[in-house]
Amino acid sequence: MEHSDTGRRMGHEAIGVVEAVGADLRTMKVGDLVVMPFAYSDGTCVFCHEGLHTSCIHGGFFGTGAMDGAQAEAVRVPQADGTLFVLPVGKDDALMPSLVTLSDVMGTGHHAAVAAKVAPGKTVAVVGDGAVGLCGVIAARRLGAEQIIILGRHADRIALAKEFGATDVVSERGDEAVERVRELTGGFGVHSVLECVGLEQSMLTAISIARPGGAVGRVGVPQDETMSASRPAFYNNITVSGGPAPVRAYIEELLPDILEGRIEPGRVFDRVVRLDEVPDGYRAMDQREAIKSWSSSEAPALMEAAAQTELGESVLN
Ligand SMILES: [Zn+2]
Repeated sequence: MEHSDTGRRMGHEAIGVVEAVGADLRTMKVGDLVVMPFAYSDGTCVFCHEGLHTSCIHGGFFGTGAMDGAQAEAVRVPQADGTLFVLPVGKDDALMPSLVTLSDVMGTGHHAAVAAKVAPGKTVAVVGDGAVGLCGVIAARRLGAEQIIILGRHADRIALAKEFGATDVVSERGDEAVERVRELTGGFGVHSVLECVGLEQSMLTAISIARPGGAVGRVGVPQDETMSASRPAFYNNITVSGGPAPVRAYIEELLPDILEGRIEPGRVFDRVVRLDEVPDGYRAMDQREAIKSWSSSEAPALMEAAAQTELGESVLN
């Protein structure tokens, strides 16, 4: 985790009840339960229409310098009509942990699977056993993958990955991991790799375990300017795709599976903290004591949904 001398409000995943709305808001009212994607977007520009809300020409990311984070009693949401999604459940619904994953990790795991061209009958490998990787396993299974290999080393996470649909586990690293995946796939590697880490080594592994003509969907934020394994990617005709997930575009598709109990991504949360314990929650994740922490204020998080005309004002807040 990056060090900060001054401290800042972190977090960009939220679910909550609308507390107040701006004058121009059309799609929600006070009292609605809404999920907030990690990026805000107007829902009307050319990129939003193409389903790439993270490239919205009026959009941006929560928890960055320009826009406050969501570990707070209340969140002000710009472009609320295009950003927030009204959920058809009450604020005490037992599905709340799974529903909040629509704001990032489940949508991001799904994006990795889509970018990696996961389809029925395909062989898939997931690099990384964090919350996104685990949701990637859910996504791969949901899209019909026949074999799902999870690359990871944490026993609790591996156990959850298996429950989510992983068929094989590779805990080796580097060349040994590549060798092991090849053994499991008739010597060729997998059709689809979900790269959910973003490190030089994880990208090298991802490209090395993709079979010729395969695809790597990357959602781990790259920590390097250059991409490793460019040459094997070229000679094996491997597609490398992915980026920040347009999770807003995926909510409608994924929501019914959560509501009807077919997927349970909320199980990635293994620690609950109060709002004043948030730093401990992050520390536990950083030290791999927790997969993902969930913070909750006594009352549900309040949401103040700003109308589109108030964007300028809220960006300055
Ligand atoms: Zn847009």
